[in-house]
Amino acid sequence: MVASIKPHRDELGLGDGRMLIDGQWTEGAGGTWSHRHPATGEQVASFPVAGPADVDSAVRAARRAFDEGPWPRARASERIKALRKVADLVREHADELLRLQALDNSVPLSFGEIYVMSANFVADVFDHHAGWVDKIAGETLPPYQGGDHMVLTLREPVGVVGAVIPWNAPLSLFAQKVAPALAAGCTVVLKPSEYATFAVLRLAELIAGVVPDGVLNVITGPGDPAGQALISHPMVDKLSFTGSRAVGQKVMTAAAAGCKRVSLELGGKSPAVVFQDADVGTAAAVTMGTVTLGLSGQVCAAQTRALVQRDAVEEFLATAEMIGTMVSYGNPFDPEVTSAPLINTRQLDRVLGLIVRGQEEGARLVCGGSRAEGDLAAGNFVAPTLFADVSNDMSIAREEIFGPVLSVIPFDEENEAIALANDTDYGLAATVWTQDVKRAMRLTRAIKAGTVGVNGYQLEPNSPFGGYRQSGMGREGGRAAVEAYTELKTVLLPFTDEMM
Ligand code: NDP
Repeated sequence: MVASIKPHRDELGLGDGRMLIDGQWTEGAGGTWSHRHPATGEQVASFPVAGPADVDSAVRAARRAFDEGPWPRARASERIKALRKVADLVREHADELLRLQALDNSVPLSFGEIYVMSANFVADVFDHHAGWVDKIAGETLPPYQGGDHMVLTLREPVGVVGAVIPWNAPLSLFAQKVAPALAAGCTVVLKPSEYATFAVLRLAELIAGVVPDGVLNVITGPGDPAGQALISHPMVDKLSFTGSRAVGQKVMTAAAAGCKRVSLELGGKSPAVVFQDADVGTAAAVTMGTVTLGLSGQVCAAQTRALVQRDAVEEFLATAEMIGTMVSYGNPFDPEVTSAPLINTRQLDRVLGLIVRGQEEGARLVCGGSRAEGDLAAGNFVAPTLFADVSNDMSIAREEIFGPVLSVIPFDEENEAIALANDTDYGLAATVWTQDVKRAMRLTRAIKAGTVGVNGYQLEPNSPFGGYRQSGMGREGGRAAVEAYTELKTVLLPFTDEMM
């Protein structure tokens, strides 16, 4: 049995969460939601469910803060100072935030040392966007036909942002939405996943002490009704969503109905392309590690299709299988634990079902494939799973599994590898493993994915991140992220004699 995690929550002294609306902590009118910890199945907290009136109050608060409040009108220096203060607070409260995240989704504390999951990353995202505040600039254009006016462009904040995020990396994903929105001068209503509310509420509490009331509001509860009410609210100007393709389509539908601006960060079925001239052992260790350590493959950019040149397949499989044996499950607060359970029983059933389908469709199960038993039986743990002899038309090669499952697909020639890499509905991420620089460049150009790594893959706060095709639209990180929270206004300024 994994020991109860309840004492950790009590140690933190955090009461059951509440919603942040217009600077006040309020209860919701839609009842409560009980959060069961994925490592133990025990109920660890209950959170309010936002009813339509709560969502309306939150959006109206954000609207007032945008239309009448000081935040969108603040001098650049004030907004920079505020965002840097948030970064400092995140660093000060790093341990607490990571412990709360482990209470949410059971991501092991040891994994918080991996940059993209760390509080440092969250703080760096706020620091990075603070740096953009005084660089959000328009242009001066010459009159095209020698007219008697100047053309200026201004970048203005887009307005009230309705943001919805999933549960797998609540702190990082919160930062990737809230930091650029605040940097641009927007106000925000954010709905976290009902499966990851603790850490988001604490981070929101820290930020609420820095920005004026109504600038950041957080509503809690399930996607439907709370999230659906937010994305459909007529006073929201822009929707920013991270999550599954299916819900992303609902967000696009809501955006279409209201002609709202929309950014989507969706799922993936990303390839790691491993040539035989690469350091195959490292490629296998990194690829299997990303799929089984930490979040146990519940990562949008996880490279769950290993396309491996045929002569390197056996070496790749041997190392990947060995990495699978290094995985250790259990209480996320135990420093020896490396990997998380699946977030809920629905996802557990789905992953196990896809593993069965992989075998039925002819893939060879090298290791794993079943739910962890014994002491771990109460949690949603699935053993690290490796499939060989996979073809790209099998379900395990096409569907985003979101669990600890790696499919190895052999190839012979470079062009075949490119075709396989691109034979997917998605296009979020890829890594090319080779020692040949020219080949690496050819592949990075040919693969249709938002981010392509060469011999490694690491996200940074300033590197634009997002998807081609059904992996989404828009980018987070860098100039593109901030500009996505702005409108471009054109000003036609007549020349007068006095100006000449
Ligand atoms: P979901 O799409 O199920 O949920 C994402 C968020 O949307 C949650 O807050 C959910 O609420 C909410 N939601 C659900 N239904 C609605 C609705 N009708 N209206 C508004 N909001 C709604 O994704 P998961 O939480 O299961 O996360 C996994 C998915 O996220 C994967 O596909 C993964 O690839 C993707 N992802 C993408 C990333 C990227 O940057 N590209 C990063 C991380 C994950 P609730 O959960 O409370 O029901």
